[in-house]
Amino acid sequence: MFVNGQWVPSRSGATFPTTDPSTGRVIAEVPRGDGADVDAAVRAAADVAVEWQFTDAIARAALLRNLAKLVGDNVEELARIEALDSGHYLAKAQELVSAIPLWLEYWAGAADKVGGRTIAVPGNKLSFTLLEPLGVTAHIIPWNYPLLILARSIAPALALGNTCVVKPAEDTSLSALKFAELVSAAGFPDGVFNVVTGYGSEAGAALAAHPEVRGITFTGSTETGREIARLGGQHIAQINLELGGKSPLVVFPDASLDDAVEVAVQGFCSRAGQVCVAGSRLFLHDDIADEFLEKLVARLASATVGDPFDENTTMGPLVSAKQFDRVRQYIEIGKQEATLLYGGDEVAGVDDGGYFVGPTVFVDVPKDARIAREEIFGPVTAVMRWSSTDELIETINDSEFGLFAVLWCRDITSALDTAKRLQVGSVLINDWFGELPMTPHGGHKQSGVGREEGLEAVHGYTQTKHIGINLDRSPSASTDWAGAPL
Ligand code: ADP
Repeated sequence: MFVNGQWVPSRSGATFPTTDPSTGRVIAEVPRGDGADVDAAVRAAADVAVEWQFTDAIARAALLRNLAKLVGDNVEELARIEALDSGHYLAKAQELVSAIPLWLEYWAGAADKVGGRTIAVPGNKLSFTLLEPLGVTAHIIPWNYPLLILARSIAPALALGNTCVVKPAEDTSLSALKFAELVSAAGFPDGVFNVVTGYGSEAGAALAAHPEVRGITFTGSTETGREIARLGGQHIAQINLELGGKSPLVVFPDASLDDAVEVAVQGFCSRAGQVCVAGSRLFLHDDIADEFLEKLVARLASATVGDPFDENTTMGPLVSAKQFDRVRQYIEIGKQEATLLYGGDEVAGVDDGGYFVGPTVFVDVPKDARIAREEIFGPVTAVMRWSSTDELIETINDSEFGLFAVLWCRDITSALDTAKRLQVGSVLINDWFGELPMTPHGGHKQSGVGREEGLEAVHGYTQTKHIGINLDRSPSASTDWAGAPL
């Protein structure tokens, strides 16, 4: 683990195995950090918090730019680690890692540009705010996009003057450790960035519960988010949560069907469906549903599920045995609730020990079916037909989740009217999700609080200080709003 600029084992000496999800075989032993390790990392981060806060923003930005350059120079190794440990197919892992410098540079650029505001108060006074860092921030990372999600959260935190303790997911610790090596090489002072590996219920819970942690950023399941909010709530930490979704992908009657089919496939098959914004509810207008489904089945036949290191692969395995069992179970539930149109079987021609599930499509799905309401986090979509826009919007909004929606529609009035009425954090129209550092990302309802990315994320890593100055030479209570001393 990387604590206070040093490479250390866990204090207990314990480790846990991490596996290659395409074979199920153990590839490394990782330190099993617990409360004592978390405490050491948080203390290291707290000890340098004030010095880092008052380091010139331009100097913090320079270090982030060094880091961006080092990530760029190490794309191949980082991508191979990600493919081996998390099951991203190699070409996709290379694309994702190559994009990470965008996040580091975006926040390097923002470091000396964000600030407070001046306020027009009555009387001869000046009133303004400072945006100050929180201090020690905790970053609890999921396993679906290990390095991208780590980078998108630590970049604003560091740029805005916070120190960081990262807890990667136990299934995918390795890229975070390689990243720590690059942070160190970039020249960040000891203690500013730390990584503690371990289980969620041990290291993760200890980090969320640590009273010196002032901000917590978590991306993952709604259930774990609720527990982290409870732990952080005990010491009133500021909390950013990006949680689950059951995102709709809606095809309108005037849509370009070939494009919509392509995006539907991306929507539920990208990263084998292990994506918070996965388009796992597919709403097809009655007029085009039959033609769309014919095209969808033909397109899915060319999806190649297999070894992440094989250059023909377009879909790798699920991340773990736990996820594999969960998704297989949902497929069995779907067979009871709806009609299986495509997939749902064992995937032939792949390693028996690997956690492979192929694209699976259910049709005639009742809107109250579990596969239409619960987050599956696998390559499974629930198809529903629609004809009335009002009913469509009512069905979509009748969900505890509210993360994301995609509308495929040429008529701009219908598209914008629908976008305005959906209870979700983001809507894309005739476009698919390419995550960007400059656009805010996050959920309504139980899909989360706070925003990652975009300038909106500034609020997740800063707190406001108000400063008021009386400019009268002999200050008195005479300008008090009530005209009388309190
Ligand atoms: P999954 O259940 O699919 O593994 P989670 O959302 O629970 O997904 O995991 C995301 C991250 O949250 C991981 O880093 C995991 O270790 C961490 N985590 C899990 N449980 C807890 C917990 N009780 N407290 C803090 N972190 C946790």
